[in-house]
Amino acid sequence: MLGSLVTWLRILGYDTEYWKGEDKEMIEVAKKEGRIILTKDKGVVKSAEKNGIPVLGLTDSDIPEALATVAEAFEISLEFDGKRTRCPICNTPLKSYGSRWFCEGCGKEYWIGSHWVDISRKLSEARRIYLERKV
Ligand SMILES: [Zn+2]
Repeated sequence: MLGSLVTWLRILGYDTEYWKGEDKEMIEVAKKEGRIILTKDKGVVKSAEKNGIPVLGLTDSDIPEALATVAEAFEISLEFDGKRTRCPICNTPLKSYGSRWFCEGCGKEYWIGSHWVDISRKLSEARRIYLERKV
């Protein structure tokens, strides 16, 4: 359900895994790797809390809203930083050269193209919501 949020967190440079397996196993992996769980599943929120794992239950399906909620809870940055961005597809930290980025994990190359307008608009929308809620 949160696949698209995963993409955004990776663009922002956060080590993010999209879990497709069993919930029980996810709790164990999160514990072992010191991860935070983001979920829309109330049952998962409960079992994470029971296991002492930081968890955030999300209700927003709108990306800027969801990013603002994550930023509120964990103080993540909503500013794009080309030096710490990760591959949206495979989570590998990207190597930048010139105005391009290369992924050593999956071989994909990225650059600031026309889609960039949409990315920066969504991020500034997220920052606006975040600041609005803070007041
Ligand atoms: Zn990749």
